[in-house]
Amino acid sequence: MSLERFREIRREVHEDEVINLNPIQRGGVLTPAARRALVEFGDGYSICDRCPPKTPRLDMIERPPVKSFYEELAKFLGLDVARVVTRCREAMFIALYMLGDRGGYVVLDSLAHYSTYLAVELARMKVKEVPNTGYPEFRVEVEKYKEKIEEVIDETGDPPVAAVLTHVDSYYGNLADAKAVGEICKRYGVPFILNAAYTAGVMPVNGKELGVDVLVSSGHKSWAASAPTGILAMTEEMAQRILKTSEIKGDLTGRSFPVKELGLLGCTVMGAPLATLIASFPDVVERVKRWSEELEKARHFASEMEKIEGTRLLGVKPKMHTLMHFESMGFYKVSQSHKRRGFFLYDELKKRKIYGIQPGLTKHFKLNTYGLSWDQVRYVASAFKEIAEKYGLEVV
Ligand SMILES: *Cc1c(COP(=O)(O)O)cnc(C)c1O
Repeated sequence: MSLERFREIRREVHEDEVINLNPIQRGGVLTPAARRALVEFGDGYSICDRCPPKTPRLDMIERPPVKSFYEELAKFLGLDVARVVTRCREAMFIALYMLGDRGGYVVLDSLAHYSTYLAVELARMKVKEVPNTGYPEFRVEVEKYKEKIEEVIDETGDPPVAAVLTHVDSYYGNLADAKAVGEICKRYGVPFILNAAYTAGVMPVNGKELGVDVLVSSGHKSWAASAPTGILAMTEEMAQRILKTSEIKGDLTGRSFPVKELGLLGCTVMGAPLATLIASFPDVVERVKRWSEELEKARHFASEMEKIEGTRLLGVKPKMHTLMHFESMGFYKVSQSHKRRGFFLYDELKKRKIYGIQPGLTKHFKLNTYGLSWDQVRYVASAFKEIAEKYGLEVV
């Protein structure tokens, strides 16, 4: 295996003039500062040269300023304590594992990412799902967190380990009412975990205002950082439980590690990915202030797409996020008689240097306009309309 072959696809979608609409890729594009940091901190444990000998732990390192970065990160999210872990899903797993016991229930929304279900499963817990309204809005019925928490109490005599809400889901890009869930959780004394993989880092999110106890997010998805980076932020009260330190003692040697945070297995991201997250942070703090313009672009784009015969935006309207899911009976109709079937749409977009729509899909496809310029948004919209017209679909 040569590196050349490894790079092929990446280069295709990474050329300057190419537009990549893949929903997971938009918020993870590095800033120039992060790209430099990636090279500078590329060697192994590059963060660890000045690890304090009395408290040897990643979050205690002051040169480079990991400690103060974690403090600023927590503040930015309206919470008390923050740690960087490898992924959003790992942050979720750590929180659940440290908060509950085997066999406990986790109440979660029915649009949760698969990795949330797997985190529950690996923590040896069970799920209780909160329904959504189904086609075409797929709105999570947040008021039902109340009855689902009560169901768990009735069934087991205990409250659930936690309630998890996906702030913006990865299927429809719906923004859920976190504050409403926060209020319900507070009433029942259930820890509220907000999955902000698609929100924190691109739009303003304040944990305290939303009544959140734990917030998890994804650096490579929404913070202009390299993979793997995840964010685990929480209140002081939650930190007592989630960041509990080690108590084990060697039976022969008596060795112990009371400084190490157990759920993190001591240290987490000790090199380049953390450096990229830190390098991009000042830009991220600024870019969330421009969220309303991102929404304007997304709404403009959606309305242009809906001019294409048989094409509609699914999910709650108006868009409150830049991730969009379209249903297109128009492009589907074209695919039925095209020799390339559903791949025609991918081919046509590729010719116009637009990537990121899953090859083969026409009836349903997702995209994300986050971070595109107005010119790029208009170019992509006119590309879709041009393709539609080419195959005889009506464009109003
Ligand atoms: C993308 C996504 C994840 C996974 O994030 P990782 O950092 O890759 O673990 C989890 N939850 C939601 C809602 C997501 O959209």
